[in-house]
Amino acid sequence: MTHVFNFSAGPAVLPREVLVEAAAEMLDWHGSGMSVMEMSHRGPEFMAIMAAAQRDLRELMAVPDNYQILFLQGGGLAENAIVPMNLLGRKPQPAVVDFIHTGSWTGKSIKEAGKYAQVNVAASAKASGFDHVPARADWTLSPDAAYVHICTNETIDGVEYSAAPDIAAQTNGAPLVADVSSHILSRHIDVSQYGVLFAGAQKNIGPAGLTIVIVRDDLLGHALPICPSAFDWKIVADNGSMYNTPPTYAIYIAGLVFQWLKRQGGVAVLEQRNIAKAALLYDYLDSSKLYFNRVEKADRSRMNIPFFLRDETLNDAFLAGAKQRHLLQLKGHKSVGGMRASLYNAMPIEGVQALISWMQEFEAAHV
Ligand code: PMP
Repeated sequence: MTHVFNFSAGPAVLPREVLVEAAAEMLDWHGSGMSVMEMSHRGPEFMAIMAAAQRDLRELMAVPDNYQILFLQGGGLAENAIVPMNLLGRKPQPAVVDFIHTGSWTGKSIKEAGKYAQVNVAASAKASGFDHVPARADWTLSPDAAYVHICTNETIDGVEYSAAPDIAAQTNGAPLVADVSSHILSRHIDVSQYGVLFAGAQKNIGPAGLTIVIVRDDLLGHALPICPSAFDWKIVADNGSMYNTPPTYAIYIAGLVFQWLKRQGGVAVLEQRNIAKAALLYDYLDSSKLYFNRVEKADRSRMNIPFFLRDETLNDAFLAGAKQRHLLQLKGHKSVGGMRASLYNAMPIEGVQALISWMQEFEAAHV
């Protein structure tokens, strides 16, 4: 089997150990005679898988007891509608939502929330091409927002918050909602700073199809009447994420990834590895005459590293050579062009070293 390094932004590389384990259990899970895909979600076998996955995620992220962990369907984009439908009912309508516009994904969130709420863009990095997180002092938050929405890692633009912003002082306690799709479990996240965290699983966690929502108890039970029952967090929580059929196989793989993470030593160990991997690539980019990254240093993503060739006519040759060397899925998002290397938890440092070797060889040939 060809050994590759897969830099996809998602669906993305998973730990090999997990895939080997899943393959071995594919036809017969723990002597049950069934594949996990064939099990009733309400049977004892799957209930045990579900309970372990939720327990392990709670432990890995140190989720406090007054937060629910929900396993849903719909992906990150569906949450852009599900969040307002669940949170706006706490305020008289039409309610206001504050957004910090840091890139493509918050752009989509703003557009979707506008169907349900009055949207206030409290700060935006659009004018400079999304190359930083606007400083907290420059946020113009509304006095009575239903919530404040941020994306703590912009997957396309490669911009990441280095810490949770302290917003409590100026928002009368408006809860902070964060889209953590592309950096969940890659670094310490202080859950207690947030009202809601949501993430599609298909980057750091498992296959597409599973969406994780972590929500503080007091924010449950305020859904708008139009909210579909299957997406009403209170109903989902009351039913242990089994109100409708959850994405069972994706939850099973996520559970194996959580166990793998625990075997590695947990999020703190992964965070150190992720710091080292990202530093290696950014240091090389900053020293290069051919490649560059445009994001301000303090706000650079450790997970998604977009970079550009100064001579864009070389893009195809760069990608073709990368593919020959088994360095896959490096093409940047179509909206920004260039290249992007995603360095999720399952990407070993050897992958980053192999990428840099190829980049150096290509640079030597063309500069
Ligand atoms: N938010 C972020 C930060 C993302 O990276 C993505 C997917 N790349 C999404 C939302 C959308 O997720 P989905 O495709 O699962 O709806």
